[in-house]
Amino acid sequence: MSGGLTQRALEHAIENDELQLYYQPKISLISGMVIGAEALVRWNQASGDIIAPSVFIPLAEKSGLLHDITVGLLDKAVEAVVKVKRHHSGLALSINVAPNDLESHTISEHIKHYLDKGVINANDLQIEITESAAMGNFEQIHDDLVRLTNLGIHVLMDDFGTGYSSIDRLSQLPFSALKLDQGVVKRMGTSRQNLNVVKASISMARELRMTSIAEGIESAAVYNFLMVNGCEEAQGFFISRPIELQQFISFIEQSHAFEGSQIGRIHQTVHNILYHRKCLFDVVFCDRIGAKACLPSVMDPDISASLEDSRLGSWYFGIGQQLSGMVPFDSLEQPIRDLHKLSNEILHREYDKHRNGKQETALSRMDSLVNQIVSLLHALESALLLKQSEPSLL
Ligand code: C2E
Ligand code: MG
Ligand code: MG
Repeated sequence: MSGGLTQRALEHAIENDELQLYYQPKISLISGMVIGAEALVRWNQASGDIIAPSVFIPLAEKSGLLHDITVGLLDKAVEAVVKVKRHHSGLALSINVAPNDLESHTISEHIKHYLDKGVINANDLQIEITESAAMGNFEQIHDDLVRLTNLGIHVLMDDFGTGYSSIDRLSQLPFSALKLDQGVVKRMGTSRQNLNVVKASISMARELRMTSIAEGIESAAVYNFLMVNGCEEAQGFFISRPIELQQFISFIEQSHAFEGSQIGRIHQTVHNILYHRKCLFDVVFCDRIGAKACLPSVMDPDISASLEDSRLGSWYFGIGQQLSGMVPFDSLEQPIRDLHKLSNEILHREYDKHRNGKQETALSRMDSLVNQIVSLLHALESALLLKQSEPSLL
């Protein structure tokens, strides 16, 4: 097919507005609601043939036409955002970009223009760039990614698992989400090892404070596994193929059909709390053996001073509130507040001021709070599992 494509034909397609965006819905695996869509380009030829992006994007890139195409598609995506917002709020559309689009600053300049004019808000639009493109062009794209992030635009790393990121480099670019590659997601069912790759990627995203998104979900089994193992967002033919904008708007209204569960989030929260305990334990250990024998980052761990910003607090006081009314959930509030207060005391070396300044007392109070929280989380997980309605997707 690509053999027959020429630069002239592509220029003609741009002039005739034959490049159109289709929208593939994204679901929150926590709430089951549609949270947005990825905009994917198709070349709708006058003959009725539809050409896939994998066929003509490489030609566009090679012939220098991609830049104009991206700008044209950004305008269409912004128009779509405005239309969607007339019906529904809180959704985000993502567009795919290539390294050149970022290196030239064109995309960030156009987006800034739309933000300044108040046409869109930063939460309405996201950028996707593939892992291999990002890692292969690290220096060229770095500044623009920072610029976009400073504008409040979320940047998603696409096709994660195919591009040989080093974790070091990954954490130097301001990605807000990892989209697990569909090959990685598809291979999940073929071996326990492949399943563990997905679990490890979800955990890595959590550790780096990024959202985990899985694409290429084609079955209920994959959907359910990701849902109960803490993956946050999902995309794939199982949910919907890429569709036209009007169909996407109708699709949003049927979103109640999707199963969402907090089970995966609770599972992650148990991990977080044990990690939190370990960080505090290390602080006390460092105090005992002396600062010279400890890494500064261990003595000052990544623990949020504000309860609402902490991993635990942002779940409990955020999306977790949907569980309000369930006894184990409501019982969590006080121990979470107490643990946060105690954590700050330990971090600021104010060990149990009121109890003779003993580290031992602080640690044993911490352990009893951690145990209480973990057992309440387990009770909540079991209660949710038992009350899980007949999955409507199975
Ligand atoms: P991508 O960004 O990773 O997009 C996901 C691709 O996987 C899409 O293919 C989508 O149709 C397909 N897909 C989604 N769910 C499933 C599933 O469950 N099973 C299977 N087999 N496939 C699924 P599409 O639209 O052909 O796009 C291919 C790639 O072309 C995209 O991969 C993206 O890298 C690139 N692309 C698409 N639109 C644009 C664009 O507007 N600009 C640029 N620069 N690249 C684009
Ligand atoms: Mg993409
Ligand atoms: Mg992808």
